[in-house]
Amino acid sequence: MQPQIILLKEGTDSSQGKPQLISNINACAAVVDAIRTTLGPRGMDKLIVDAKGQATISNDGATILKQLDIVHPAAKTLVDIAKSQDAEVGDGTTTVVLLAGQFLHECKRLIEEGVHPHNIIRSFRKATRLAIEKINEISVKINKDDPKELRSILEKCAGTSMNSKLIHQQKDFFAKMVVDAVTSLDELLPLDMIGIKKVPGGSLEESLLIDGVAFKKTFSYAGFEMQPKNYNNPKIAMLNIELELKAERDNAEIRVNNVEEYQKIVDTEWNILYEKLDLIHKSGAKVVLSKLPIGDVATQYFADRDMFCAGRVVEEDLKRTMKACGGAIMSTAHDLNDSVLGTCETFEETQIGADRYNLFRGCPQTKTCTIVLRGGAEQFLEETERSLHDAIMIVRRALRHDAVVAGGGAVELEISKHLREYSRSIASKEQLFMAAFAKALEVIPRQLCDNAGFDSTTILNKLRARHAEPDGKWYGVNILGEDITDNFTACVWEPALVKINALTAASEAACLILSVDETIKSPRSSHDGPPGGGPMGGRGRGRPM
Ligand code: ADP
Ligand code: MG
Repeated sequence: MQPQIILLKEGTDSSQGKPQLISNINACAAVVDAIRTTLGPRGMDKLIVDAKGQATISNDGATILKQLDIVHPAAKTLVDIAKSQDAEVGDGTTTVVLLAGQFLHECKRLIEEGVHPHNIIRSFRKATRLAIEKINEISVKINKDDPKELRSILEKCAGTSMNSKLIHQQKDFFAKMVVDAVTSLDELLPLDMIGIKKVPGGSLEESLLIDGVAFKKTFSYAGFEMQPKNYNNPKIAMLNIELELKAERDNAEIRVNNVEEYQKIVDTEWNILYEKLDLIHKSGAKVVLSKLPIGDVATQYFADRDMFCAGRVVEEDLKRTMKACGGAIMSTAHDLNDSVLGTCETFEETQIGADRYNLFRGCPQTKTCTIVLRGGAEQFLEETERSLHDAIMIVRRALRHDAVVAGGGAVELEISKHLREYSRSIASKEQLFMAAFAKALEVIPRQLCDNAGFDSTTILNKLRARHAEPDGKWYGVNILGEDITDNFTACVWEPALVKINALTAASEAACLILSVDETIKSPRSSHDGPPGGGPMGGRGRGRPM
C-alpha cells in the first residue's frame, strides 16, 4: 500500500508531458486553420458575428483573431503575436500566425519521435538569426534622394498591402491617396495626424484627401444659414464653454417674490451670455468652435457679426484642430488673445455626400490630413478603413526603414533555400531541425497558391528549381497567371522589416509553446465557472479582454 500524496487542491486539472505539448500544438493548429484561407490577394474574407449580433467582415489576421475570443491558454499566444505584429508594423498579421503554426506543425513530428523540445528550440533560434541576416543581405535599399523614384516605390508597397483586401480593384487610386497622406506629414510621421472619416453613400472613387482637418458639421440652431461659410486666414477660437441661455438657469434654485425680480434674473442671464459673446467677438476670432453646445442666441449673434460657429464638436476633432492650427482649448472667454487663437489658410464648409463638412486647410502648426471615405455599407467602409490603415503603416515603415524585399513567397523561399544549404554543413542532429524550419517557411507560397486555387505542388517545384539558379532569388507566385514570376520586377514589394518582424515573432511564439510541458488549471480560475469568475480572472465568453 502506497500512501497517496495530495499536492494540489481537489478539482485542479493538471496535464503534463508529451501529450500536453502535442495537445497545445493541436490547439494552435486549430487557430491557424481559422485564418489560413485569408492569406494573399486571393484570400477569402471572414464574417464574424459577435455575442451582440454585430457582424464584422475582415481579411486582417489580427482583427479576426481578436474577434474570435480564444480561451485556450496556449493558442492565445498566437493571438498575442498577431496583435503585436499589428501594433509594431501594421501588416503581415496573417503571415506571422501561419508561420508560427507551421513551425509547430513541423515540430510535432519530431516531438512524437521523442526529440527533446530544447534541442529544437536552440536550432530554431539559430535558424531565425540566420534568416534575418539573409533578409538584410538580400533586401534592396530605396534611394531616397530621387523623389520620383521614392514615390513610385511607396505606391507599390501600399498597393501590395491592399492586393489582398476588398478594395483591391481601387488599389491604384488608394495607393496614391495613402502616399499623399503620409508624405504630407512632417518628419516624425505621427499616425494620429491622419484622420479617417467615413461617409456612407457614393462610390469608393469619390473618396477624397483633404490637406487639413475635416469634420462633419455639428448640429446647429437657426441663424446658422446666415453665417458665412468661407474665410481666408481666419482666427479660430476653440472653447470649452456653453454659449446657451439655459446653462445658468439650470444650475441653481432661485426663489422670487415679484415680477421685477424675475425680470432682473432674466436680464442678468442675458447679460452674462452677451458679455461672453462680446469678449469672443472682440478677440477677433472668425471661427468659433466649442466642445459644448452653442445655442440659438449665440448663433444669431455670430451671424450678425460675420462669424461662424459650431457647437458640440467631438473632442478628438477639436484636439486635432488645435494641434494643426495652433492655439489652445479655452474654458473661459476672458483671456482670448492671439496666442490662444489658432489659424489656417482657408476655412470652408462644403457638401460631401449627404453631409456637410467643415474643412480647415493649410494649417500652420503641424501638418495633418484627413481621408474622407465614401462607399456602400457600413461594414464595407470599416474594412476599407482597416485596409487603408495597413497601407498607411506600410508606407510609414518603408519611409523610415528604407529596404524592401519581393513578396508572393519569394523571400520566404530564398531564406528556405539558404537554410537548407546551411543545414547540410551541420554534422549533428541539428541538421534535421534546421531543415524542418526551412520546410515550414514554404507554407507562405503554398498557401498563396492554395487560396488562389492553383496546384501548389507543381508551382512549388517550379519555384524551388528557379531559386536554385543564380538569378532566381526573387521568383514567387504569380497570382494573376497561375505561374511563377520575378516578383521584384512585377512590383510585389514589401518592406523588409515586415518580414523580419514576422519571422522573429513567429519563431519566438513557437519556441514559447514548445517550452511548456505542463498546464495547471486551478478550479477557481477555470473559464467555465460562473460569470465573473474567481479572483484569478476567469474570463467568461464575450467579456472584454
Ligand atoms: P497579412 O495579414 O500577413 O499581410 P495578406 O492577406 O495581406 O496577409 O497577404 C500578404 C501576402 O500576400 C504576402 O506574402 C504578400 O507577399 C502576398 N502578396 C500580395 N500581393 C501579391 C501579388 N500581387 N502576388 C503575389 N503575392 C502577393
Ligand atoms: Mg497584408
